[in-house]
Amino acid sequence: MGDGHLSETFPEIREAVRRLCARFPGEYWRELDRERAYPSEFVAALTEAGFLSVLIPEEYDGSGLGLEAACAVLEEIHRSGSNGGACHAQMYTMGTLLKHGSDQQKREYLPKIASGELRLQAFGVTECRTTPREECAKPSDGMSVLLVDMREAVGNGLTIRPVRTMLNHATTELFFDDLRVPASALIGEEGKGFRYILSGMNAERILIASECIGDGRFFIDRAAAYAAERNVFGRAIGENQGVQFPIARAYVQLSAAAEMVTKAARMFDAGETGGTEANMSKMLASEASWFAADMCIQTHGGFGFAEEYDIERKFRETRLYQVAPISTNLILSHVATHVLDLPKSF
Ligand SMILES: Cc1cc2nc3c(=O)[nH]c(=O)nc-3n(C[C@H](O)[C@H](O)[C@H](O)COP(=O)(O)OP(=O)(O)OC[C@H]3O[C@@H](n4cnc5c(N)ncnc54)[C@H](O)[C@@H]3O)c2cc1C
Repeated sequence: MGDGHLSETFPEIREAVRRLCARFPGEYWRELDRERAYPSEFVAALTEAGFLSVLIPEEYDGSGLGLEAACAVLEEIHRSGSNGGACHAQMYTMGTLLKHGSDQQKREYLPKIASGELRLQAFGVTECRTTPREECAKPSDGMSVLLVDMREAVGNGLTIRPVRTMLNHATTELFFDDLRVPASALIGEEGKGFRYILSGMNAERILIASECIGDGRFFIDRAAAYAAERNVFGRAIGENQGVQFPIARAYVQLSAAAEMVTKAARMFDAGETGGTEANMSKMLASEASWFAADMCIQTHGGFGFAEEYDIERKFRETRLYQVAPISTNLILSHVATHVLDLPKSF
């Protein structure tokens, strides 16, 4: 795909990520997908190259780059046909600890997260409260952030039940039953946790939006190449406007979404709230990548369904992003009530 003005940011990071991903071709991901296995070698390579610690400040052994750089990393991973879902949370979950943890907590955990010795890539948001809602001044009060060492918690009040899903993403249900954690597990102040994780959620939405942009570019690259090379009745199928136009439409939609993702990332890096932009970028990017995925299957005809092309795998993977980490309806609800001042429905 001729990018024009797109993908110009962080060219060196992008090139390095592309080179790394080239070591993990379609066969690697197909095999994992079949087995529902974790991409350990891929995650180890990303960790070793320092790509998962770009958001950790240098004083804690990260590279101290901003969210826009992290977006470039994830976009390129996804554009290459790889998937960052297994480890992207290692990049941003530590944001809550970085912003609200004590000095001691930061010194203890952040360097280990940067080196990969410690994985901080699972987080569970539940409705469990540490203070009953009726005793709170605001509905968002009364929830706390706790850092739980799962190696100790499993079997001692935490049960993890894997959920097999339509894509290879280690998804689980967590059951908490009288799990005891030390007071030192509390991040920041008790009862203020919801506020703490909101900023982390904005980072997550923007980063996942860039994964969608990467997916969309993958689909458009593949579709344009296939349409140019596949001959039916003596000419390339891409000569037909019925084939060309959906590819061009996908490109237009993705380009607009990418602009919004860049805007949201820059706002985040500038310390601006940007919750609405984070939400809008995630919605636009997830819809653009889904349109591109559907277009790409159609362009490939029957081969779109064949595992060896990797299109059907990416198609399943990119569908997730209209549901998780936040569903499209809840983004629309945010825009309706917070931006347009429409009445709240819940
Ligand atoms: C692969 C995968 C990985 C995940 N990883 C994590 C994780 O790491 N951590 C974590 O905490 N969670 C995780 N999740 C959970 C994910 O964030 C939720 O599934 C998602 O936010 C949707 O919530 P829900 O499943 O409870 O759907 P529901 O809230 O039950 O919603 C179901 C449908 O109803 C719609 N809906 C609900 N309420 C309203 C309303 N008021 N108005 C209009 N429409 C509404 C929704 O848009 C949705 O389409 C993961 C999910 C998946 C599938």
